[in-house]
Amino acid sequence: MKLNIVVPCYNEEAVLHETTKQLSQLVDDLIAKGKIQSCEIIYVDDGSHDATWTLIEELQKSSTYVHGLKLAHNVGHQFALWAGLEYAAERADAIISIDADLQDDIAVIEQMIDAYKDGCEVVYGVRKERKTDTVFKRWTALGFYSLMQKMGVNIVYNHADFRLTSQRATQELMRYPERNMFIRGMVRLLGFKTAEVYYDRKERFAGESKYPLTKMLNFAVDGITSFSIQPLRMIATIGFIVTVLSFVAAVYALVSYLCGSVVAGWTSMLISIWFIGGAILLSLGIIGEYIGKIYKEVKRRPRYHIEKTI
Ligand code: UDP
Ligand code: MG
Repeated sequence: MKLNIVVPCYNEEAVLHETTKQLSQLVDDLIAKGKIQSCEIIYVDDGSHDATWTLIEELQKSSTYVHGLKLAHNVGHQFALWAGLEYAAERADAIISIDADLQDDIAVIEQMIDAYKDGCEVVYGVRKERKTDTVFKRWTALGFYSLMQKMGVNIVYNHADFRLTSQRATQELMRYPERNMFIRGMVRLLGFKTAEVYYDRKERFAGESKYPLTKMLNFAVDGITSFSIQPLRMIATIGFIVTVLSFVAAVYALVSYLCGSVVAGWTSMLISIWFIGGAILLSLGIIGEYIGKIYKEVKRRPRYHIEKTI
């Protein structure tokens, strides 16, 4: 089988030599064991400002495996990864995506390939624990996954973008024309037979994280808003609750009025504020419901994926 490894790189000059060394060794090994026949390592330079591309050119000349794809400007990890997947979808039987810093353990790639050979079309790399991460990173990351799940975004817990997809799964993924992409959520929509492999996440061996907290927060918001209409539904729920409360408030205001202990005008003000508040929120909820429909419509996602025909 032909394997492609897609690696998005943004200002990764510090790690590329080592990454290429480790990946090439692994590929040599896999070929020697007969697990794969050939492999291409596809570096996608996501508009880096450092020597990343020059380095990729050098590596391409000196290594049999390395291929390079240079994006004209920085488009962010998800788009860079997509570019690589689209490129690889025509070239390989199976495609593995991994970060340039090899924080994800490449030793499990062999298990991924075994699972692929057992008929799995998608194999998720899942982090066991986060011993090496700082407490802060661990908590924010766990918060991220549980928030996503509460918001109804179906993602694999502790799985980032380290995964194997078969050629078919990758091509099916390419049928999603949406621009607001959250790839790990989209892969979940494919169905097919899947498997998980577990590994310990390592520390970045050089360079620094390209995902500071602000980017992570944006990513979380992106993930939720490009996958879930739950926030829109929440408006309707709140509107309903406020409307019910407005009746309680009305009873309270009327009783106070009848007991004669209120300032003139207070009762009518209080009742109208609550009632109008509830009515506005409820109306927004109804509009939200339609916007949710429009949102699903404009995504033009495929309606189904065929697994077998006989
Ligand atoms: N990356 C990218 N474009 C960007 C930011 C990051 O292609 O705009 C790549 C980066 O080179 C790396 C991967 O995305 O291969 C993950 O980034 P990083 O390791 O910095 O994130 P972390 O592991 O700290 O979450
Ligand atoms: Mg990293």
